[in-house]
Amino acid sequence: MHFKTVIEPFRIKMVEPIHMSTEKERRNYLKEAKNNLFLLESEKVIIDLLTDSGTSAMSAQQWGGIMMGDESYAGAKSWEKMRKAIFDLTGYDYILPIHQGRAGESILYSQLGGKGKVFISNTHFDTTRANIEYSGALAVDCLSEQGKQPALEHPFKGNIDVKKLEQTILKHGAESIGAVVLTVTNNSGGGQPVSMQNAKDVRAICDKYQVLFLLDCCRIAENSYFVAQREQAYKNVSYRAIAQEMFALSDGAVMSAKKDALVNMGGFIALRDKKIADACANMLIMKEGFVTYGGLSGRDMEALAIGLVEVFDKDYLHYRISSTTYLGDKLTALGVPVIRPIGGHAVYVDAKTFYDHIPVDEYPGHALACDLYLKGGIRACEIGSVMFGKYSESGELIPAQMELVRLAIPRRVYTQSHLDYVVETFEAVLAEKQSSKGMKIIYEPAFLRHFTAHFARLLPEYASVV
Ligand SMILES: *Cc1c(COP(=O)(O)O)cnc(C)c1O
Repeated sequence: MHFKTVIEPFRIKMVEPIHMSTEKERRNYLKEAKNNLFLLESEKVIIDLLTDSGTSAMSAQQWGGIMMGDESYAGAKSWEKMRKAIFDLTGYDYILPIHQGRAGESILYSQLGGKGKVFISNTHFDTTRANIEYSGALAVDCLSEQGKQPALEHPFKGNIDVKKLEQTILKHGAESIGAVVLTVTNNSGGGQPVSMQNAKDVRAICDKYQVLFLLDCCRIAENSYFVAQREQAYKNVSYRAIAQEMFALSDGAVMSAKKDALVNMGGFIALRDKKIADACANMLIMKEGFVTYGGLSGRDMEALAIGLVEVFDKDYLHYRISSTTYLGDKLTALGVPVIRPIGGHAVYVDAKTFYDHIPVDEYPGHALACDLYLKGGIRACEIGSVMFGKYSESGELIPAQMELVRLAIPRRVYTQSHLDYVVETFEAVLAEKQSSKGMKIIYEPAFLRHFTAHFARLLPEYASVV
């Protein structure tokens, strides 16, 4: 018998109550937070889809492991477990612990980067780009053309454009290329996967020009699931073996373990090259901690070692990707425009199309994110002109390429009924779509304004004030 419902492949052993609020209460909460969802206390949120980073629920095994944490300064048993888990997966000899992804990026790119160096990616994640640029180097994105078309159905929209990659290497000269960094899955491009063939093509080009090939592998397990589903040759290969093959193709990796290692904090740098690793180790000791803990507690390292194995469980990954797809497909059926196909960790709503009556300088994505909160207590994240907009010299908004609202799904946290509730919230927002108004910014800082800006709703206020 084939079941329609993909159930959560776990039972709930410990619960965290959700404070239910009314629309009227949320209207006040949002006002107090200056209409900025980042300024809301999490207790005032019913379903928190702000990010999938560091928000995973840990298993009983991981919590059990936490009690075994060895907190020795040097040579802790817990480090040995973490090192072994990473070595078994990546096959790299030189492994350094870090407290989260950007700490590893700061260390690695301070060593590989510098003025005159160029790093080429499918899409550099924001913190990756920032750390590369901070070193004085240049960060270039070469995403495939398919990856740039939100509505296009294509199995691997995270692929790098190998032709452009080669042209970029030739343009700058192979000796100035710091590394090619393949982000799997491509977070900034909608959580879209990268094929094994693409990784093989990158390897071949890196061999031809003697260039370093790195993985930004935060979501390598989710990427492996897509490879098994969509790349014929990998139909019968285990998810773990697929990940191992991708690591075998590359020379090193940085991982934010807050994603696919199913922990709330942690990460690693793993490398084949001893010289680079030694240089990074010096920086690690200076910035994060000794080489056998790197800013992590022994208990964190235990949980990470266990999570990195659990994430490749075939029932877990099937449920994980199915539940993201479930939400995306239900929204599509309602007529909500979303980026296709649905990626691994999030559903991205195209707010420019959804609120086509709100011009981009009135921030349709931010208006939608606020409406989802008001109607259902859902916290989503605007990825549009609030986050990436700039101003021209005359003070006019230069909008972002797209006005998106990201619904990121924390791992093992919400059930299908929570997602049904999200769908119902969208129904309520859709019903009053035309009466929703845009937003204006009434205060903004000089940098990263989305975190702390204050907003006001353009008048007259949202129609359904209760
Ligand atoms: C989250 C993330 C990072 C940075 O990791 P942090 O743990 O948040 O510092 C880097 N790259 C990608 C692709 C990410 O998703």
